[in-house]
Amino acid sequence: MSDVRSSRTTRMRSILHADLDAFYASVEVLDDPSLRGKPVIVGAARGERGVVSAASYEARQFGVHSAMPIRTAERLCPSGVFLPGHPDRYRELSDQVMAIFRSYTPLVEPISLDEAFLDVTGSAAAFGNGEAIARQIKSRVQSEAGLVVSVGVASNKLCAKVASDLRKPNALVVVPPGEEADFLAPLPVGRLWGVGPKAGQALREFGVQRVGELAALSDATLRRRFGQHGGELARRARGIDPSPVIPSQAPKSIGHEHTFEHDVVDPRHLESTLLDLAESVATRLRRHDMAAGAVQLKLRYEGFETLTRQEPLPHRTRDGELLYAAGVELLRRTLVAERAVRLVGLTAINLADAQQLTLFDGLDREERLSASIDAVRERFGENAITRARLLTDRPRRRFDFGERPNKAGPRSAPQELDE
Ligand SMILES: [Mg+2]
Repeated sequence: MSDVRSSRTTRMRSILHADLDAFYASVEVLDDPSLRGKPVIVGAARGERGVVSAASYEARQFGVHSAMPIRTAERLCPSGVFLPGHPDRYRELSDQVMAIFRSYTPLVEPISLDEAFLDVTGSAAAFGNGEAIARQIKSRVQSEAGLVVSVGVASNKLCAKVASDLRKPNALVVVPPGEEADFLAPLPVGRLWGVGPKAGQALREFGVQRVGELAALSDATLRRRFGQHGGELARRARGIDPSPVIPSQAPKSIGHEHTFEHDVVDPRHLESTLLDLAESVATRLRRHDMAAGAVQLKLRYEGFETLTRQEPLPHRTRDGELLYAAGVELLRRTLVAERAVRLVGLTAINLADAQQLTLFDGLDREERLSASIDAVRERFGENAITRARLLTDRPRRRFDFGERPNKAGPRSAPQELDE
């Protein structure tokens, strides 16, 4: 066992698990500082049907948690602030935070909008060890996105995941190499990633309460009791997890859509909405370093009849004006006069990695303007800069800092297929 292969497999990895604290609720507080310190519950407005999708730590003290019916949350927390939420805004901040992660390593595996694994083994020379990178990430997520992220640092995904969750919120938990099993041993078996409520129950019935007790059982015993899964359980209990961080697939499409508060007949109103959507799509294309080869328009008329139409672009682009031009062309060809429209959407499709495009694609020419727009938006928020035409007859879709949109008002939902 002294060949190259064994030394490679024993090379110590440095894995981070980064998890934003109470993400949706924290975004609501970020955009409306008057909510700070209050029990904020995201999922539905008070009195509406739905389930809790996020609760601030203040709300959790009342026993409110995710997946709980809103009605139950209202009963537990009568003083709660109940919000339907802003999916578009969560997606936007998630993109921004993931971009911060990707500035430390290309090996970022998003688990959800607010959670990702990072393999920073190869980043030590540039940024320091895992703990140093975790500290930089925490500080940048705070200063650039205004959010708090908990980070676990370990030699594998399993321990990093358990670590990030251990002392939330605002946690930084490092599991030193070689101490994986000792770190897990005192924890309840239910904490072990991969042990769901059912397996946890079965283990407790078997007399196993702590991870350490599980680790002490022989593989044979576990296999006899839990079948094939038993061996895997024992390995996990000993802190062993060779699974790699698998970077996310690039998105196959990036789209935004907008549902009007009142159905719209005026085509100019639709066109200005389309321009706004095109700018949002373009910003996200640039964030993903992608360019679109075609756009797809989605129209939903009153009565929910929905249609989609596609239009190729003259060349691949991530410029909002060009996406808009193709979208408006489609709209003019498609729209039936005097029919009221309930929803309009614009999706960039036929995506390619922008790095691989040549200057013939015209990317370079548009890049400077677009890049400066992105920079200003990143600092001051989405509405800080708009091209002149956006200002005419433009529906209020997003909000400026310090203002809130009408709670019952129009909302946009991000739509990212195959990601
Ligand atoms: Mg989270």
